[in-house]
Amino acid sequence: SEARLAHAQKMEAIGQLTGGIAHDFNNVLQVILGSLGVIERQLARGRAEEIGPSIGAIRKATNSAANLIDRLLAFSRRQTLLPRVVAPDRLVVGLEDLLRRTLGGGIELDLRLGRCRRNVVCDPSQLESALLNLAINARDAMPKGGVLEIATADRRREADAGEPDIAPGDYVEISVTDNGAGMSCDVLAHVFEPFFTTKPVGRGTGLGLSQIYGFIKQSGGFVRIDSAPGKGTAVRLYLPGRDPPNAAPAEAVAAPERTPE
Ligand code: ADP
Ligand code: MG
Repeated sequence: SEARLAHAQKMEAIGQLTGGIAHDFNNVLQVILGSLGVIERQLARGRAEEIGPSIGAIRKATNSAANLIDRLLAFSRRQTLLPRVVAPDRLVVGLEDLLRRTLGGGIELDLRLGRCRRNVVCDPSQLESALLNLAINARDAMPKGGVLEIATADRRREADAGEPDIAPGDYVEISVTDNGAGMSCDVLAHVFEPFFTTKPVGRGTGLGLSQIYGFIKQSGGFVRIDSAPGKGTAVRLYLPGRDPPNAAPAEAVAAPERTPE
């Protein structure tokens, strides 16, 4: 739990840092845009000899923008995932304390476990981070309190011509549902974009859901969100399911690899 809290705090710090960089980057863009406006007006008045200082300001701003991007790339370098066989229910139970502490007093945590027989293969610390991030989003959406439900279930996905990018097969669904503010269609359309946030500067970084999307996708899964303003939000993570080693397979399948505990 210490290590998990440290990881969560590190992710938060990274988020704050990226948020700060995004803010500075925007300031730099404003300098560039403003200087371009000045140049346009000077050229319109036939004073081409006066544009030097504005060109200088743009060059300086562009350099500092490039610097900001370097800083961003320094820590956004894709983290190496360490995939392992994970029992979803066990992972959620192991996170329960931290979730309760994160949610505080006003929000009830309702765990609906025991309906998921399959394991998933993914980086457990990334999955923990994802669930913590979703819990924080839910908390932010329920300032007057509410219920956060986390449920797991085995799901079979049939071939679907409408969504050819999603492979048919067995998945484990981990859903995080709140009865908070919910989202409009306009917000929902952008939530997976990095830096998209509706929260005030310093509170939101807009990186939570984009990170979760990337991690789940890298792990062979997909994410679905249902949300309605005033009703609440359900975020569902789907990860490829894997039969536990002692399960009697219905048909011949490759034996799951054993991963050391
Ligand atoms: P952040 O939390 O830093 O804003 P996220 O990527 O986690 O970034 O979320 C992006 C946006 O999606 C939020 O600013 C919010 O508008 C919306 N959102 C995410 N989760 C929820 C939720 N459970 N309820 C309502 N809105 C949400
Ligand atoms: Mg968030």
